[in-house]
Amino acid sequence: MAHCPKCKSKDLRRSRTRTRWERWRKAITDKRPFRCRACQWRGWLPLSAAALEQVAAQRRSATDPPNLRGTLLARSNPRHRLDLHTLDRFDDDEKDN
Ligand SMILES: [Zn+2]
Repeated sequence: MAHCPKCKSKDLRRSRTRTRWERWRKAITDKRPFRCRACQWRGWLPLSAAALEQVAAQRRSATDPPNLRGTLLARSNPRHRLDLHTLDRFDDDEKDN
């Protein structure tokens, strides 16, 4: 079981996503928002092995996307790596407004 990176408590609960960015981040990564009940820390932690297997099973059962090769919708560039920390910062700025 994971522990809080701030106070090392194991009293962590899954936390709801709050913004569109968080929901998207949840969909594309294997991390989920957690809240520490001891110190109120909130942040992203990797899912447990069991939870990861559940997610993988759901993804396996999804249908394949249509083949877009040769069409205008074909992806021309290889996937860029996402800088999640930078994107999180934008999300925090949005909440302040
Ligand atoms: Zn804590």
